[in-house]
Amino acid sequence: MDGICHYSVSQNDKYGRYLTAKKDIERGEVIFSDLPVVVGPKPDTPPLCLGCYCPVEQTVCSHCSWPICSPACEQDPHHQLECEIFQASNVKFQNVEDWTAPATQLDCITPLRLLLAKEKDPIRWQKEVDTLESHTEERKKRPTWEVDEVNIVNFLRDHCKLGDRFSKELVQKVCGILEVNAVEIPSRGGFSIRAVYPRLALAAHSCVPNLVHTILQNNYQVQVRAAIPIKSGEALHLCYTHALTPTIFRREYLMESKFFACECPRCADPTELGTHLSTLKCNKCDNGVILSTNPLDNDAEWQCTEKNCGFKTSGAAMKKMLSVVQQEIDQVDAIEPGPKAIEMREQLLNKFKSVFHPRHSLLLSVKHSLAQLYGRVEEYSIDELPDLMLERKAGFCRLVLQALDVILPGDSRMRGMMLYELHAPLMFMARNEYSAGLINKDKLKDKLQEPIQCLADAARILMREDPQSPEGITGNIAHQSMEQLKASLESL
Ligand SMILES: [Zn+2]
Ligand SMILES: [Zn+2]
Ligand SMILES: [Zn+2]
Ligand SMILES: [Zn+2]
Repeated sequence: MDGICHYSVSQNDKYGRYLTAKKDIERGEVIFSDLPVVVGPKPDTPPLCLGCYCPVEQTVCSHCSWPICSPACEQDPHHQLECEIFQASNVKFQNVEDWTAPATQLDCITPLRLLLAKEKDPIRWQKEVDTLESHTEERKKRPTWEVDEVNIVNFLRDHCKLGDRFSKELVQKVCGILEVNAVEIPSRGGFSIRAVYPRLALAAHSCVPNLVHTILQNNYQVQVRAAIPIKSGEALHLCYTHALTPTIFRREYLMESKFFACECPRCADPTELGTHLSTLKCNKCDNGVILSTNPLDNDAEWQCTEKNCGFKTSGAAMKKMLSVVQQEIDQVDAIEPGPKAIEMREQLLNKFKSVFHPRHSLLLSVKHSLAQLYGRVEEYSIDELPDLMLERKAGFCRLVLQALDVILPGDSRMRGMMLYELHAPLMFMARNEYSAGLINKDKLKDKLQEPIQCLADAARILMREDPQSPEGITGNIAHQSMEQLKASLESL
């Protein structure tokens, strides 16, 4: 697939091995594609089918008694090898009381699959996997080392009788490779699992990435594209964290799970490059905002920007407060899409509007959800939304898009989905104005140009996704809607 190689592997002290562009690359161009060396459950997931990864309850493989949803999934090649091992050692999945709660028994599956991949293809292992970072020395100092030793190393070597095939050191190394390099991917049914892509793993991280990646659902192949034009010689960056999170949370996640302190330009700037994704309002004065005095140090003080105000708080207090608000947001996120999901979020925004800058990432993530809910749930369907709410939906879309312009520039899935959401209120508002006699035909045609452009951009970005995925489906709808809207314009 990669006729001409678009990247080379470089090395420095900051990133270790990393990828750079070998030539100028256009926006949207495929830089490389890669097949996973392993696919499997994430740690701490509730029981799921070891073939298709859908949630299961009480259904197990007729051969090995581990969670499997159907006879077809018993035959899944990923499950076959471990199935033989569980049968030979007579190790069964221990029934759990709550099939929706995390089951640590499953934590051994993906490491086992990676070990078996080593046996099956030792050459690929040596070339592509053995050299991946595992941070063994740092991991030894963490409490999770002991937990992995019991739940994975001893479980596989003693209970599953694999002690002769895999040494303690190798099993721990595999745990480290997974912890550091695995990426979260959606399964065919849309459930979250993990996979290791040896080439993708070499891309360095930045909180302002220039790469996007797409997972194809039939074989979990990853396609890596340029999100923006990239010049020859530039480093290729992927973002390992969620984009709409504040700096404190991103850096903590990267330190915990990827073992490095991010010092990218976004992390280094207290205003997050002017997006204000970490900024708070000052309640002691009128005009001040509260920013970190050193965002590259999580313990640094936060203070008000107004010279005479003097408000200060500790980094620890700030983190505590953000965690409490995040928990409230998580609770609301758990509500099924419906009128209540909208109303609870509006209440959250109201509750915290005096605390946070309107662009703060925690509020922005709530607004991002609302942008997708307005017009899509009962009592709030798009053709019954009053103009005020259409404007609200459009306003939230624009707010998210403005942040993305800075932190995820170029063609990202999130941008594609937001552009698709934005087209609808713009289209309905223009039509409402026309039917009310407020604008004439020419003005209507004028006003419909923006939603047409939104649909065209959404289609271009989202049609690169797997056609079976939610984004790929939306991409196709965007394309059709654009054609229809254009045709209706012609016949006006
Ligand atoms: Zn299944
Ligand atoms: Zn089985
Ligand atoms: Zn960063
Ligand atoms: Zn102040």
